[in-house]
Amino acid sequence: MILSTDSFEKIIENLHDGLYFVDQDLVITYWNKAAERISGYSSQEIVGTLCTDSALINVDSEGNYIRTCPLAVAMDDGKMHESELYLRHKKGHRIPVNIKVSPLTDDNDCVVGASALIADISNQAANTLKLKELEKLALLDNLTQLGNRNFIDKEIKERLCEFKRKGTPFGILFFDIDNFKRVNDTYGHDVGDKVLKFVADTLSSSSRPFDFYGRWGGEEFIGIIRNIEQPGLEQLGCRLRRIIESSHVLEGDNKIRVTISIGATVVNITDTEKTLIKRADTLLYQSKDSGRNCITVG
Ligand code: GH3
Ligand code: MG
Ligand code: MG
Repeated sequence: MILSTDSFEKIIENLHDGLYFVDQDLVITYWNKAAERISGYSSQEIVGTLCTDSALINVDSEGNYIRTCPLAVAMDDGKMHESELYLRHKKGHRIPVNIKVSPLTDDNDCVVGASALIADISNQAANTLKLKELEKLALLDNLTQLGNRNFIDKEIKERLCEFKRKGTPFGILFFDIDNFKRVNDTYGHDVGDKVLKFVADTLSSSSRPFDFYGRWGGEEFIGIIRNIEQPGLEQLGCRLRRIIESSHVLEGDNKIRVTISIGATVVNITDTEKTLIKRADTLLYQSKDSGRNCITVG
């Protein structure tokens, strides 16, 4: 299959990661859509400027200015380099990014420029920071690295206050792994722990920055979803149920699959923390009664 130049351009333009090219003089010649999104600068504003210009000054993870442009380094030594650093957003704040720079060569192997691929890792950085804080406050579940029951309590109390003060709605997703005892009985407790971690990772990696997932205990998890009404909550729950159902944990040659049952409910004005969790728990048990691997909303 030989792709047209047009196809290549479309793929590059719509990559999830930011991509830009510079020529030998470090003048930016190309800036894709994701680079626009991550940096806040449009292609029109950036193409034609020097990548060493103040607009794009990089600082390393310690906050020190990087004096030598990474793209210049790649052109000098002809090698690919990867590092984590901070770009300055058009609005001024810093964005942590992973950057991969490579030299670009012509048909005669002469270096004619360089490319940089940038991935926004701001969520990742925030999460690492959050985990450290939680450990200090004894709000972390060590096995899954999610918030523990104390943390869930604290979050629900805060969301209830916010709801009563400002009317910002939120929803609760109560998850329980189906027939989890069977996993322990068949593969042993350690594999059971692996499965718990897999479910926890799936929930947190599918979450939006303001959603919260914690481990309620055993093989039960709670999601606190901000600013959502019933249809959105149901949709999210269904999506998570399907993601878990269609994934597996690899243990030797065995693909271990589990499913989850869900109870989903949105806060109402008479709710306390207890009534809210109780309702979600009752709905979850309706899902178990309906045959498991499903969601009940109420
Ligand atoms: P159901 O579909 O009705 O939820 O069935 P189930 O087997 O998932 O439910 P049950 O409550 O009977 O069993 C839950 C099991 O979870 C029993 C317990 O040993 C196991 N479990 C609880 N905490 C942990 C843990 O930290 N690690 C492991 N490996 N297993 C755990
Ligand atoms: Mg249970
Ligand atoms: Mg269970």
